[in-house]
Amino acid sequence: MDIHEYQAKEILAEFGVPVPRGGIAFTPEQAAFRARDLGDQRCVVKAQVHSGGRGEAGGVKLCETPDDVREFAKGLLGTSLVTKQTDANGKRIDRLWIEEATPIDRELYLGFVLDRTSQRIMIVASGHGGMEIEDLAEEDPDRLIRMIIDPAVGLAEYQARELAFRLGLKGSQIGQMITVLRACYRAYRDLDAMMVEINPLVVCRDGSLVALDAKMSFDRNALFRRPQVGALRDPGQEDPRESYAADHGLAYVGLDGDIGCIINGAGLAMASMDMIQLAGGEPANFLDIGGGASPERVCQAFRTVLSDPNISVILVNIFAGINRCDWIANGVIQAYKEVGIDIPVVVRLSGTNVEAGRKLIKESGLPIISADSLADAAAAAVTAQPQSIAAE
Ligand code: GDP
Ligand code: MN
Repeated sequence: MDIHEYQAKEILAEFGVPVPRGGIAFTPEQAAFRARDLGDQRCVVKAQVHSGGRGEAGGVKLCETPDDVREFAKGLLGTSLVTKQTDANGKRIDRLWIEEATPIDRELYLGFVLDRTSQRIMIVASGHGGMEIEDLAEEDPDRLIRMIIDPAVGLAEYQARELAFRLGLKGSQIGQMITVLRACYRAYRDLDAMMVEINPLVVCRDGSLVALDAKMSFDRNALFRRPQVGALRDPGQEDPRESYAADHGLAYVGLDGDIGCIINGAGLAMASMDMIQLAGGEPANFLDIGGGASPERVCQAFRTVLSDPNISVILVNIFAGINRCDWIANGVIQAYKEVGIDIPVVVRLSGTNVEAGRKLIKESGLPIISADSLADAAAAAVTAQPQSIAAE
C-alpha cells in the first residue's frame, strides 16, 4: 500500500528525519493560506499523487508569492497528473503539499528496499539524486551503492558511517546522515514497510541535510497490526476495481485485456492467464478468490470483475482442494441472479465435489459454457468473445 509524500514525511520526521516545514491544502485558498503561514519566502507547491516523476510532469512548482501559489493550485486541483509512472489516465490531484523552498547544494538518492535474494533490507544510495532510480541504475550502475542490513544486528554504525563517506559527505554532514539512515531503518522495520525512498535527499547550502521528497510503501499483509498505517490509505489514488477487491479480501490486479478471470490459487491464476494468451486472448485481470470460497465470495468476485467496462467474457477456473465445486457452482448461479450477467461465462470445475458442481450448473438452465480442461476453458473463453463470433 502506497501513501502520499506528505504522509511519508510526517512519519519519517517522527523518526528523526529532517523535512521542510509545510502544510496540506485541498483548495486554492487553503494553499495561499499555507504559503502565508510559512512566512515571507518562496515556497514549493507539490501535487500529492501516488506516483513519482511529478516534477517532470508539471506537478511541482517553485512559487514566489501566496498569489502565485493560489493560481498554480487552481490550475492543478481537480485535474489528473500523468507521469511516466502512471497510465494514460494519470492520478487525480485532490490535495497539495505547500512547503518552504530549500536552497539546494547537492541532491542525493536514498532508498530502503526488500532484497528478495538475501531476504534482507537493503539500502540503495547514490550521490546522483533527483533522477529516478531506474535511470540511475541504467546510466551509472557503478555509482549505486548497495548495502545489506543484518536483521540480528540492525543497521550498524560502521555501515552508516561508510555510506556517508562513500557519498562524499563531510564534517557534520556525516553525523546527520547517520541520523537519517537510522531513522529510515527504524521507520521501515517498525511499521512493516516495503519501501522507503528519499529522492532527493539534499545537502542545503548551509550544509544541513533535508528530505525534499519522501515515498513509503507498506506490506498489505501486515496492515492488520498497523492500524495507524492503514488509516493513511487513500482509495482515491487506487484503481477502483482494486479498491473494491481489497475491501472484500480478494487478491485482484487489473490488466488491459477483456477476458475476466475468477480463479482460485495464485499459481492457477497465472497459468490460466498464460493459457488465455496462448489461445489468442488477453486477460482483463488477475483474481484469486482463495480457498473456502463461499457463494457470497464468488458473487463479490463477479462484481469485481464486472466493474471493469472492458470485459467481454468471464472465465471461472476452479481446482477445488479446500474449495468445493458445488459451493462455487452455487456462487455462480447466485451471481446470475444478484449481479445480472449479460456476457458469456465459461466455467471449468475440477477437484472436490466436481460431479455435484457440474450437475448444479447443468440443471440451472443458465447459459453457462462448461469446459473440462484448462486448455479447453481458455479456448472456449476466446471463442465466446463477441468479436470471435462476429468474425465467424
Ligand atoms: P518527484 O518528481 O515526484 O520525484 O518530486 P520531487 O519532490 O522529487 O520534486 C522534483 C524536483 O523538484 C526535485 O528533484 C528538486 O530538484 C525540485 N524541488 C523540489 N522541492 C524543491 C525545493 O524546495 N527547492 C528547489 N530548489 N527545488 C526543489
Ligand atoms: Mn522525487
